[in-house]
Amino acid sequence: MEIKHFGLIGCRLGHSFSQEWFSRKFAELGLKKYSYELFELPSVDGLKEWALRMGLSGFNVTVPYKLAVIPQLDELDEVAASVGAVNCVTIENERLIGHNTDAPAFQQTLDEGERKAFVMGTGGAARAVAYALEQRNIDYKFVSRTPEKHPRAISYDEMRQEAWKHPRLLIVNATPVGMYPEVDSTPLGLQAPEGDVLVYDLIYNPSPTRLLREAAALGMRTKDGLEMLHLQADLSWKIWENKEIGIKN
Ligand code: NAP
Repeated sequence: MEIKHFGLIGCRLGHSFSQEWFSRKFAELGLKKYSYELFELPSVDGLKEWALRMGLSGFNVTVPYKLAVIPQLDELDEVAASVGAVNCVTIENERLIGHNTDAPAFQQTLDEGERKAFVMGTGGAARAVAYALEQRNIDYKFVSRTPEKHPRAISYDEMRQEAWKHPRLLIVNATPVGMYPEVDSTPLGLQAPEGDVLVYDLIYNPSPTRLLREAAALGMRTKDGLEMLHLQADLSWKIWENKEIGIKN
């Protein structure tokens, strides 16, 4: 049986969902010679040489390297190039190819329907969300602490003035605010909504976050990041198994 090594690169990995998820997947499929390891790297300099030396067939990428890996790769697929962030890499014939499975994963978890969206954060996750919203023709703005640095971004104050008047509103938290261990933090103070509001927090630990608890208490619909987390892992696996993932319009 073929031996294949996969893994996750990041800075501080601690307890990883991905390692458990892939180890269980390999066991279920009887892939006894497949492994998934965690690699805490101080930087991504020399990434290609490192990955080839480790004999990896592919790896996932997490904070803070989803953007930084791009110059180290030989190629990007269409979605990763459009998003401008990579969370999955395939290695074929000594070439490193970057993919983004956060965007299709987020898109698959979105319900249908027109709404106005505000995406808090401007990092890799926010870009993946924005790409998915564009594919669905959903109008959105980024919300940033430094809006002057980002196209299409407004400040949190501007969001507070603008957002609540929309009858169908989607608010996405694509910042790490509220994530374990800072569980008492929230990126946004909420007010009672006039229309239909969905608050989607990409954070999955804890679930619910303070943001989602406060939204639910005000009668808003809420969604955590768990379904997206599972889907992005599943889509990485499909890529490594050479299956098309695509993104639905
Ligand atoms: P990131 O690059 O570290 O941060 C994203 C953005 O959040 C930053 O660009 C920044 O935007 C804003 N931000 C950072 N610290 C902040 C603070 N203290 N206060 C307010 N805003 C702050 O993270 P990321 O990789 O994009 O991920 C964001 C979140 O999504 C994380 O919690 C991650 O776990 C989650 N995520 C979940 C999934 C999933 O499958 N569920 C997938 C990917 C990511 P500004 O500087 O412009 O304000």
